[in-house]
Amino acid sequence: MTGTTTIEIDSSVFKGSIPVPTGLFIDGKWVDPVEPDMIDIINPGILLDFSSLYLINAISLHSDRQEDRCGGSWFLQGCGHRSQGRGKGSKRGKLLTRLADLLERDIDQLAALESINTGKPLAFAKARDMARTIECIRYFGGWADKVHGKTIESNENKLAYTRHEPYGVVGQIIPWNSPILMMSWKVGPALATGNCIVLKPSEMTPLTALKFAELIVEAGFPPGVVNVVTGYGMTVGQAISEHMQISKVAFTGSTLVGRKILEASARSNLKVVTLELGGKSPTVIFDDCNLDQTIKWATQAMYGNMGQSCVAGSRIFVQEGIYPQFIEKFTAMVKDLGQATGDPFAPTTRHGPQASQVQFDRIMGYIASGKESGATVHIGGNRHGTEGYFIQPTIFTDCTPDMKIVKEEIFGPVAVVLKFKTEEEVIEAANATDYGLSACVFSENVGRALRVAHAFESGSTFVNSAQLIEASIPFGGYKASGIGREQGEYALETYTQVKAVHVNIGLVI
Ligand code: NAD
Repeated sequence: MTGTTTIEIDSSVFKGSIPVPTGLFIDGKWVDPVEPDMIDIINPGILLDFSSLYLINAISLHSDRQEDRCGGSWFLQGCGHRSQGRGKGSKRGKLLTRLADLLERDIDQLAALESINTGKPLAFAKARDMARTIECIRYFGGWADKVHGKTIESNENKLAYTRHEPYGVVGQIIPWNSPILMMSWKVGPALATGNCIVLKPSEMTPLTALKFAELIVEAGFPPGVVNVVTGYGMTVGQAISEHMQISKVAFTGSTLVGRKILEASARSNLKVVTLELGGKSPTVIFDDCNLDQTIKWATQAMYGNMGQSCVAGSRIFVQEGIYPQFIEKFTAMVKDLGQATGDPFAPTTRHGPQASQVQFDRIMGYIASGKESGATVHIGGNRHGTEGYFIQPTIFTDCTPDMKIVKEEIFGPVAVVLKFKTEEEVIEAANATDYGLSACVFSENVGRALRVAHAFESGSTFVNSAQLIEASIPFGGYKASGIGREQGEYALETYTQVKAVHVNIGLVI
């Protein structure tokens, strides 16, 4: 129901009460769902203390009935002001810049909400997720008055030009691993190009999206330009994907659900679908790398956000000459990370819990499968402590390409390390996956590093670094990792459709 839930946080690094609005944010107002339903929003950083679960209102929405309540169509009610979404480019830019300033003002609160809802260490939520969110919204604010078409002079009697027009209403469906950051990647370009948005956060992590809606109002966006609808994927997500008035859906999440959204589009109005999906990204380490630097990058790439990252460098290929030193130093660094496991709000924590029981069970299932299939647990391989969703950072060695832990996305702190001999061999092995989101190569030989970077079948490749994702650089997947690009100028193309205008200035028939 509409109202406010107050989240109380009392830690040495953040103390305070954070009011979070509840209900559906439609057409600039908080409205009740037609079929009220509660979803438990949990704090995964608390050791299964269910009395401390934070409950907020979320909804289980039946789209047709919701439409009745809102007098017509709630999507259109919310987004009826399609033209409001457009306005003047410079005005949109100003609003986005103001939004970035408000996000910056509230960075501590938002980072705390993100941390309490996902389990990610507070310092990481602030320094990575929030910093990149603000950068992204500000970046797209800068684009808002620079979206324009071309003039095409095909002959003297004709003027033709193109307009890059917004779709009108776009749906945006967000995952739970980095909610506000993934939201910013979608909201930024959609608003810069003049679209209206129906946004659905993950049912597990709606807190920052609800707070974000408040900032949308404060920034001064017209009502209906951004709408936030909470609820389950199978109901609300499905309703968005099938809706005849929504012309584009941008989705980040699993490949399984990505397929469902494509199917829903095919069944409904053939809406444009962009997908950011899963990965099983390779990290390729040659004998001639700078080993100390490489180990730091590889650790960060694999275990950042407790491995719940679509670009996690979870298949680590190490050339045989350096293999023993790599294993020794990598193990030491991962052990050190494991010792920094704990409460996301403790200043020393670098490794928090997994986000949910479902994730915890899934990852432990993969660890069991690795053990059963004959891989060696080099370090980790168990839960951390005796309760809660904490899992030890884990390294498997003696892996073979046919093992489930080598082939499937685990989305947890579990690395597989494989030995290789030659460049040709490792390129083939690195590409032997259905996914193609990200890949890293480490070598001091520039020619080799670039050859391998170019040979990777993936949307992003990193040379002697990892996951340095920026608002100005396109991001997206090859193969089953996705369709389309987010971030950078390329993202604008996925939020506009091109209209060609033909003007006769002299041809007589
Ligand atoms: P998920 O696919 O289960 O859920 C993502 C979102 O889709 C949620 O909001 C969910 O409610 C919604 N959803 C579920 N079923 C739906 C349906 N039938 N129709 C419409 N919407 C539906 O994914 P997740 O578990 O939240 O996230 C983990 C996955 O996301 C991983 O596979 C990960 O690799 C991927 N991911 C990818 C990126 C990227 O940028 N490529 C970023 C983060 C996460």
